[in-house]
Amino acid sequence: MTDRRLTGIGVSPGVAVGPALVVRWELPDVPQRVVEEDEVETEIERLHVAIADVQSHLEDLKVRAEERIGPDEAKIFDAQIMMLQDSEFISGVERLIRENQLCAERAFEFKALEVRALWAQSASERLRQRIADISGLQVRVLRRLLGEPVDPILETDYGRPVVVFTRELSPGVTLQFDAEHVAGFASEEGTRTAHAAILARSLGIPCVMGLVGGLARVASGNEVVLDGTHGSVLLDPSKDEVREARARERRRRALQRQLERVMDQPATSQDAVTVALRGNLDLPEELDAAVNHRAEGIGLLRTEFLLIGRAALPSEDEQARYFERVVRRFAGQPVLIRSYDLGGDKFPAFFRTAPEPNPFLGWRAIRVCLDQPRMFETQICAVLRARVEGDARLMLPLVTQVEEVQRTRELVAAGIEDLIRKGVPTARELPVGVMIETPAAALMVDQLAEEADFLSLGSNDLTQYTLAVDRGNARLADRFTPFHPAVVRLLKQVCDAGERAGKPVSVCGEMASEPLAAFLLLGLGYRALSVAPPALPLLRWLVRQIDIRQATLVAEAVLAARKTSEVTKLIEEGVAPHVDLRWLEAGRLPRTKRSATFKA
Ligand code: PEP
Ligand code: MG
Repeated sequence: MTDRRLTGIGVSPGVAVGPALVVRWELPDVPQRVVEEDEVETEIERLHVAIADVQSHLEDLKVRAEERIGPDEAKIFDAQIMMLQDSEFISGVERLIRENQLCAERAFEFKALEVRALWAQSASERLRQRIADISGLQVRVLRRLLGEPVDPILETDYGRPVVVFTRELSPGVTLQFDAEHVAGFASEEGTRTAHAAILARSLGIPCVMGLVGGLARVASGNEVVLDGTHGSVLLDPSKDEVREARARERRRRALQRQLERVMDQPATSQDAVTVALRGNLDLPEELDAAVNHRAEGIGLLRTEFLLIGRAALPSEDEQARYFERVVRRFAGQPVLIRSYDLGGDKFPAFFRTAPEPNPFLGWRAIRVCLDQPRMFETQICAVLRARVEGDARLMLPLVTQVEEVQRTRELVAAGIEDLIRKGVPTARELPVGVMIETPAAALMVDQLAEEADFLSLGSNDLTQYTLAVDRGNARLADRFTPFHPAVVRLLKQVCDAGERAGKPVSVCGEMASEPLAAFLLLGLGYRALSVAPPALPLLRWLVRQIDIRQATLVAEAVLAARKTSEVTKLIEEGVAPHVDLRWLEAGRLPRTKRSATFKA
């Protein structure tokens, strides 16, 4: 059974059933050809004709994209068009033809490899992401020079929609299809943010990427079930498996319709308890999704992206601009900006830290910030500046001691003075909150609640450190669960402590996005949850189905449980009268790389 299942990343939801069509869209073999001196100009002419043809092909694709999915998405073709117009790049290819008497194919390949190597080493994340554009261009120009069609022409004679399998899915290939001919896309490479993934979502065609080694396992004509919601492909499915997949898809669509219906309704339970639903932001690109999914503020704004893949620390101005942008989009709503959570698996290369034997128990998060006060103060000043524009607040990760909060407050006071001295507009106070994500913080939560302005529960790390189970270790995935009675008790203590101290408490770990776990959190008393934006609609719908009084009774029973299995059973039984559990399964989002592996 498992042998027939390929696992990847679900990048466009939905189920597709049909025959596979394997498409090989790879760099063609280029002949080792040199040309005579008197053929050089002809070769350069050939290059220009090919470039002009590819450019007009890309412009055609862009027009088709504009018609089918709109002008914004169609812009993905601009990067390749601009490269073809880059005179430095083109004259570099010409020089190789002139000086080394290379044929046009060989010269173009050399130059593209040179740019690719340069970008691969670049500190700029943006340039590294654009390597796929170079590949796209390289394949097209080389194919044209070799007399092949610029993009493969895909014809099928299966008489029903196919599931296209490729190594790398290009936007050009994606666009050739519509739902009438293609049921789904699968590729060995790529992630959610790949251009082709964005296109597949816009076209409404299910898609799974990152199926490492997948091409070797499937041949054109093989029957497959592709699940773009969960990120899997089932080879050679039985009739029952196909029936089950279709039923799953029907449930997903029915659920989707319900989610759309409640999109603009408040997250208020059957017994009139309203819950605040906020968004977690890892990257600026998620800002639109947070707004579109009706986040009521940002419950966790991760700032590590500002450092990763960079050659130097970001300036105060750069950070302030980003924080201000977010705060303005969420006028009147809180934006909890988390100070750098460096260490563990994330350290920018320029930090040059010696490797640690236990990085997750090492120089991490608030420890790094307090040991690097200049870096920390720069970030604090950026938050203070954003607070002039709205409700920006500062949140500290991996706190284990009261002194860490006190020391941060000193830096906040110094930051305010500094900005005033420089004449930069600044807030005169800044709420400082503590993430409860270590057992030490959970056990000291009363003292931390006195010291802090708000608390936010980081269930990913709290589970990892309480259970001594690495959150990223797939082998331990079944043991990583916030439904362990030890974690559940800490969850309760934290919520109660916030209430006793009169300080707001929210949850920003992954568990809040799992419907069953959210039900438990609401039963334990939490009234603010922050999750990845795509998880918001399902949560809103869930809250509106349930009765908080009943969730509270379930949570009480859960607190007396002695085993994870008992906890899970009690929650399932508690949710079942309100919600069909199979619906929740159908609406489950694919796990992100960052997320914990917890499966409710
Ligand atoms: C957590 O630990 O739950 C959390 C939200 O922080 P991160 O996932 O960024 O460690
Ligand atoms: Mg954490």
